[in-house]
Amino acid sequence: MDLVQIQTEADRPQEAVRQIAPPSLNDSVKSCKYIETGFYFGEEGVRCCTHADIFSPLMITAEEMRKGAGYDLAIRRRREHFERINGLREGPTGSCLGCGHLKVKKYKDVNFEFLGGEPIPGGMGIQHFTKCNERCTYCTYTVNDNFIGPQYEFLEFLEQFRKRGKLKGNNWIDFSGGEPATLKNFDEILNYFLSHNLGTIVVYSNSTVYKQSIYDALKNNQIILTTSLDTGLPSTYKKLRGLDFYSKVMANLIRYRNSGTSGLWLKYVICDTNRTEDDLWSFIMAVLAIRPDKVMMCPEFAYGEDHFPEETVAFAAKLWYLLERHYGFTPVDYTTAFKGPKWDRYRADLRSSVEALKAKKPLEGEFKLKERGWVRAAINRLVVAKDRALRSEMRERILPDGTARLKVARTAWLKTVGRVPFLRT
Ligand code: SF4
Ligand code: SF4
Repeated sequence: MDLVQIQTEADRPQEAVRQIAPPSLNDSVKSCKYIETGFYFGEEGVRCCTHADIFSPLMITAEEMRKGAGYDLAIRRRREHFERINGLREGPTGSCLGCGHLKVKKYKDVNFEFLGGEPIPGGMGIQHFTKCNERCTYCTYTVNDNFIGPQYEFLEFLEQFRKRGKLKGNNWIDFSGGEPATLKNFDEILNYFLSHNLGTIVVYSNSTVYKQSIYDALKNNQIILTTSLDTGLPSTYKKLRGLDFYSKVMANLIRYRNSGTSGLWLKYVICDTNRTEDDLWSFIMAVLAIRPDKVMMCPEFAYGEDHFPEETVAFAAKLWYLLERHYGFTPVDYTTAFKGPKWDRYRADLRSSVEALKAKKPLEGEFKLKERGWVRAAINRLVVAKDRALRSEMRERILPDGTARLKVARTAWLKTVGRVPFLRT
């Protein structure tokens, strides 16, 4: 194993426990469903959550995982973190104190014993390695030259919860890295999550390596595969991702498409090297060939800059407009969960640029391909309506996050309308 000594906040000195009486059952305390049920396996250890720029402190270090950390330590660390957040103990609180997920609730409703149980993005993830066969210019691992193999194994950790009946399904599981398909035990990990019915698994793969297990899981609509293609030109692909693998990736994506899945997603990360007219139109053609079920787009994270270049926003708007027009398909803005003025401004600029394009109708004389267009448009409208309803204030009012009511509604949905694959998540 390619191990790395990572110094982190969890190599913590003894923390002071404040001499304050512990809460009684009816006291109001601050907690969060990620602290109570989340576990995100990162290269440096295990956190409660990992959202773009928001994460809890480390609960368990990679070193502790290598030494066999399990259920008991996990529960203890969750409790300690809860105590820090509620002023009962000193120590790092990560992003928690300023995080919107932190809620006030009765102490009697706080429970640290379970792992998973709700599809909360960023609450269950596999990223205990960064090793990858590509070198994308926009990737933080490339920028920091930080490509390392798995730092520990975690299936035994999950087993300790499962054997106690404390591992719950219905999760949203991000399986990324690095390149997951290059992991020696990729099939074993995937099979574990599938065979124990742990929820929706999103595999983020560059699709340079074909895996029969991915094909089979796609065929059964058990996973979502997300691949960043970023262009439709082999020359740009090589420039951007460091390898001449475009034709291989396209061949693998077409094989995966032929599985008949409704879980094949493409992504476009917009950088200064791939925002030309050639990249734009070649990507549209690639989309028409692969027929993805979603296309996500986002700008390169623009390290250190406080805004995104105008050219990037203009490209994003045109790509958005063309996908709607020619594919009958509204792309997904991958930045919606990212917080901060830079992202707010990007989203506002993107919205107004798309509206301006629609008002101008620069391609008025051109037409969508008829074949599949109306079916795709109808599916897309349903998916957009479902996503809007899920995120609405009315849903939050009627079915608040974390309540039993929401769980019942979600189960009812999955057993009825949610059986249709594209309405499942
Ligand atoms: S409060 Fe926020 S940062 Fe802390 S564990 Fe919950 S979701 Fe993560
Ligand atoms: S494929 Fe993913 S992990 Fe690999 S270099 Fe590119 S962005 Fe980074």
